Order: sequence, then C-alpha cells, then structure tokens
Amino acid sequence: MQRITILGATGSIGVSTLDVLARHPDKYRVFALSAHSRVEELAAQCVAFRPERAVVGTADAAKRLSALLAEQGVRTEVSYGEEALCAIASSSGTDTVMAAIVGAAGLAPTLAAARAGKKILLANKEALVMSGQLFMDAVHEHGATLLPIDSEHNAIFQSLPHSYARSPKAAGVARILLTASGGPFLKRDVATLENVTPAEACKHPNWDMGRKISVDSATMMNKGLEVIEAHWLFGAPADLIEVVIHPQSVIHSMVSYTDGSVIAELGNPDMRTPIANALAFPERIESGVAQLDLTVVGTLQFEKPDFQRFPCLALAFEALVAGGTAPALLNAANEVAVQAFLDERIGFRDIDRVIARVMHENEHGAASSIDAVMAQDARARQAASLIVAGLAR
Ligand code: NAD
Ligand code: MG
Repeated sequence: MQRITILGATGSIGVSTLDVLARHPDKYRVFALSAHSRVEELAAQCVAFRPERAVVGTADAAKRLSALLAEQGVRTEVSYGEEALCAIASSSGTDTVMAAIVGAAGLAPTLAAARAGKKILLANKEALVMSGQLFMDAVHEHGATLLPIDSEHNAIFQSLPHSYARSPKAAGVARILLTASGGPFLKRDVATLENVTPAEACKHPNWDMGRKISVDSATMMNKGLEVIEAHWLFGAPADLIEVVIHPQSVIHSMVSYTDGSVIAELGNPDMRTPIANALAFPERIESGVAQLDLTVVGTLQFEKPDFQRFPCLALAFEALVAGGTAPALLNAANEVAVQAFLDERIGFRDIDRVIARVMHENEHGAASSIDAVMAQDARARQAASLIVAGLAR
C-alpha cells in the first residue's frame, strides 16, 4: 500500500490526483492533504479520503476546517503554515508526495520531501526552476525519487530509456522536442494582445488548469519554465531543447536520437495520464482517461514558435543561459506580474515588460544556497511590485 501526501489537493492537479487514487483503493491510501484557502473543498476531500493529517494556510482556516470535520465526525489532525506543510511532506507516515502547490510557495515542502528521501511526483515546476541544482543535489544526496508530472516532462521521461542517468550524450539523445499548444493567443492579432482579459487568457484550447499556469500558457512563459525544468530533470543544455508548437496537444513531447529515431508519447490531453504513470511507475494503472483515437483527431500540426509574439519564451531561455539565480528572478517577476494581470491591475503585454525590466535592472548571483535563492526571490518580488505599481491602471 503506497501512502500519499498531496500538497495542493484542492487545485487542478490535486483533484485529478484524487480522481486517480479513488480508482485504486487497494493500492493507495491518502496520508495527508493540503490546501491554502479553500477550506470547504478540503473538508469534503477529508470526508471522502479520511487522511491522517490536513494542512491549511492560516490559523483561521485551520479553525474553520476543524469545525467542519468535527461536524462530520472525521478525526483528521489539522494544522497550518509552512512548517506543517514540510512536516506532512517528510513524515514517516508517507511514501509518496504529490507536489502540486502553485508557485514558489511549493519550494520548501517539496525540498523537505527530497531531504526525507521520498518519492516525489513533481507538478510544481516553479520549485525546480528556482532552485534547480540545489534541488537535484538534495534528491541525489537523500536517495529521493523524482518523477515528472508535467505532461511534457512525463512524455520525455517515457521516451527515454529506463536507465537514463541525466546524460543525453550517453543515451544517444540528439534533441529534446518540447511540444507547446501555443495557448489561446497563437493566432490572434498581436496588436490586440494589449487588451485581452484574464478570462480570455485563462481559456486554454486543450487543457483545464489553474489560473496562474493558464496565463503562463497564454504568454508561453509556461513553456519557458518547462525548458528550464527539462534542463534540470534530464541534464540537457539549453541548445539541446527545442520548442515545437503543436496546437492539438496530442503529442506531449518527443526525444530525437542520433540515429534519426524520434520517440514520442501521445494521448488525450488529460493530466490523469501522467499522474497515473508516475504513481504506478514502472507498472501501469487505469487512469480514467479515454483511449486516444487518432482517426478522430485526424490532423497533427507543427510549427516553430514566434519569439516576437511570445517574448516570455525568449526571457526564459535567457535566464537559463545566464544561470545562477537568474531563473529565480524570472520566476518571481512572473508570479507578481501574472497576479497583477489576474487582478486587472496591469495589461496582458505588461507581463513580459515587467519580467524583462526585473531581469535587466537587477543583479543575479550564484545559487549557492536555498537562502540565497529565497533572498533573490524576495528582491525580485519587490522590484516587480514597484514596476507594477508604476504601470497600474
Ligand atoms: P491550482 O491553482 O489549481 O492549485 C494550486 C494549489 O496550490 C491549490 O491546492 C492551492 O490551495 C495551493 N496553494 C496556492 N497557493 C498556496 C500557498 N501560498 N501556500 C500553500 N498552498 C498554496 O494550480 P494547478 O493548475 O493545480 O497547478 C499546480 C502546479 O502544477 C503548478 O506549479 C503548475 O505549474 C503545475 N502544473 C499544472 C498542470 C495542470 O494541468 N493544472 C499541468 C502541469 C503542471
Ligand atoms: Mg506542461
């Protein structure tokens, strides 16, 4: 029986994870669940899955959750805050941690899971973008297992040999082909992008996701973060990673080998596939996802990304090549800018302007420790907030 902690259980990935787990009560038991503020949803999940522990964001939320659980006669122990998140991620009561908190807030508990040698199912790409080398070092030092949930990285993982040890050359890998849908604005007149609304930006053509990653998909910063994620997961330099626009999202990514072979993973765009793959690896379990019917899909299209239309993609490559704390700078500026856009304080095109200014007006250094990364994160947030205040309409 695998015992699971889900960090970010009320989010899009969290809910999909519980959907897969519910299909296999003989194989998986929920040890702990976390949510930030959606207390009612977390309470309902606790009633259904009876975890030993539940963690929320604040003391007030904890009080409300405890009251709801008491009414239902559920004996889940409730706590709150970052320390409690780290505790459920590293507890001896759990084997596997689904890291599905959005943004930098997920770094500390995901790192705690790595240091405790857990099996980590990584959805929270921002944690890896911020602290790449330090995070990978912690995984290796403490014998943790890292399995990618991001559909592209899970596809690459499935397209690489089982013995792959983060050396593209040794495995005969010529290129990693990261597919991207291009998001809702792939074909829209660039001049009109200044005035798109959060609702339009969050309306992804193929995937149903949280609001932050949906905006990231519209700017293609999501793909930029994924390039950095692929760099760390697969030990691939920036020039080995190629972004290919594939609007149907049926091919979830590919690996091209020196002998000319290209191996891809295909499927319907539903995150329960990579979640089930990582949960059961190296076995296979049913995920609830319908079998892919290529005769219904009919056509698969591909094109090169337009870096003028999607400047965030270029900024992410720039941060990867710069190294050190540059990706942490990029990520923090992006989080602040996306939140400001969602709150309708700045326009859509202001997102890339804020990030570019934060990156070009601030020093970055060596990512020598998690403290150094967090300090860079804090400085970048402050710089981004000032720029946002200047732009605010
Ligand atoms: P979401 O917004 O739907 O859910 C986020 C979860 O994180 C919620 O449970 C929320 O309670 C929790 N959370 C938010 N802020 C928090 C904070 N400050 N402290 C603690 N918990 C907090 O997001 P999502 O779409 O499920 O994405 C989660 C992660 O997975 C992101 O890093 C995203 O990039 C990645 N991801 C998502 C998808 C997808 O299809 N949704 C695909 C690939 C990768
Ligand atoms: Mg992805």
